[in-house]
Amino acid sequence: MLIIGSHVGFKKDSQLLGSLKEALSYGANTFMFYTGAPQNTNRYPIMDGLTLEAMTLMKEKGFDYSKVVVHAPYIINLANDKDPDKFMFSVRFLQEELERCSLLGIHKLVLHPGSHVGLGVDAAISNIAKGLNMILGTYDVCILLETMAGKGTEVGCTIEEIKRIIDLVDDKEHIGVCLDTCHLNDAGYDMRDFDSFLDDFDRLIGISNIGCVHINDSKNVLGAHKDRHENIGFGTIGFDTLLSIIYNKRLLDIPKILETPYIDKEYAPYKYEIKMIRDKVFNPNLLNDIKEQKEL
Ligand code: FE
Ligand code: FE
Ligand code: ZN
Repeated sequence: MLIIGSHVGFKKDSQLLGSLKEALSYGANTFMFYTGAPQNTNRYPIMDGLTLEAMTLMKEKGFDYSKVVVHAPYIINLANDKDPDKFMFSVRFLQEELERCSLLGIHKLVLHPGSHVGLGVDAAISNIAKGLNMILGTYDVCILLETMAGKGTEVGCTIEEIKRIIDLVDDKEHIGVCLDTCHLNDAGYDMRDFDSFLDDFDRLIGISNIGCVHINDSKNVLGAHKDRHENIGFGTIGFDTLLSIIYNKRLLDIPKILETPYIDKEYAPYKYEIKMIRDKVFNPNLLNDIKEQKEL
């Protein structure tokens, strides 16, 4: 079954229940959220009452709880340990994220591997593994390392780099990968023949380690190392290639999450993009249609 959703909010007063309701309004059957603002580490306590209500509603609506995803904030950087206090802050915050996931009953936590900021890739890879080894397995939550675009000094923009991190992680049960189609494109992976990409991935890391796929089109050309997401079908990857990834038989049970931009920074596109994906028909006027419907 197609498991598709988008990035949704997580608000102090409605928490998981609010996130679920937003996902339902998009016609999704899964979703991803940050436990607070992605750019900062201000977090509030999880309210079990709301979590319980959300779980009941999910059962009713046929959501598979194990496919819901949390994204760790960008400010966590395990790649650089030059300042030991900063490094340990990242480790501790990530551990708290694991705890929050566990309280919310969520088993997938997506993490950007980090930026080496001058230390070099080799040191960065061993730092990331060192940080992960301090906390993995303390909760039954799997950390999914996201493939990156290679902007700045980002680590994890090749499958080989992701593999090197995983090889150094002790707890193999709680480590996996999140593919991001925009990032793969910007890193230089041509996905027009997605099956041969998957063959390579399977040989190196193993397809069973893919826990999530971020579905985004890209504003930039193959190998641009930019990381700017575009709405589905409106970028350089294109609708047909994205569909071939979304409906790939080998990734059927893996949650697909849209992180495409809002229209005019105001209107969420997800309900319309999800419908277009389910219908398998590209609407070249989608962005205008959304604006018009919202402005009525
Ligand atoms: Fe991400
Ligand atoms: Fe992503
Ligand atoms: Zn991105």
